[in-house]
Amino acid sequence: MSEEKRVQVAIDGPASAGKSTIAKILAKQLSYVYVDTGAMYRAITLAAQQAGIAYDDEQAVAALLPQLQIDFAPGEPVQHVFLNQEEVTEAIRSTEVTNNVSTIAANPAVRADLVARQRAMAAAHSVIMDGRDIGTTVLPAAPVKIFLVASVAERAERRYRENVAKGMTVELATLKKEIEARDYKDSHRAVSPLVKADDAITVDTTGQSIEQVVARIQTIITEKTKDQA
Ligand code: C5P
Repeated sequence: MSEEKRVQVAIDGPASAGKSTIAKILAKQLSYVYVDTGAMYRAITLAAQQAGIAYDDEQAVAALLPQLQIDFAPGEPVQHVFLNQEEVTEAIRSTEVTNNVSTIAANPAVRADLVARQRAMAAAHSVIMDGRDIGTTVLPAAPVKIFLVASVAERAERRYRENVAKGMTVELATLKKEIEARDYKDSHRAVSPLVKADDAITVDTTGQSIEQVVARIQTIITEKTKDQA
């Protein structure tokens, strides 16, 4: 594929707004590569945990980065994630990782390292990339930028249902608090906070089915990329 025909779709938004579910379906339909940038921050969080490094020890975490290789492989229902060739698809979704990833993601060295890796992926393929800073920082020239939101109550319920399906029982009220804490940290950090890009289109998924959201974003992608076809 020639460089000018590569398409970049940026999907940002708060925790559990449905980004990865929607991005994965769209990537499959469009034959683009799906890049789950949250999984990359999670993989580094897991690496810090395994190395026994405090999550807020910015220098020690930064020193780990050159040794960390993060790879994705297609999979159903979720993409496979590898950290130094070891599969960590499930390990990066643990409560420990989920509740500490925002601390790792606030580390400027981690962000600089991962943004460079993410840009290299987008230079090689047409991508649908989801995260918190894709439209603002990673791919500011992306022709399609979506800011996906949903009410906290609905996001907590979605996480609750996912947990029940995995056999985990965490109270809904606890999940709501965890989501709010992560949103707060992600929106208030000094480097690349979660914020809507000026040219992003907000799509509210509260009360919407997956099919409805996919269809809405497909329409936006078609409209925004029609001159690139
Ligand atoms: O998308 P997910 O919930 O898996 O992301 C986990 C965490 O990684 C977020 O809460 C945020 O702290 C961090 N993140 C980020 N920038 C991105 C993607 C994720 O800071 N582009």
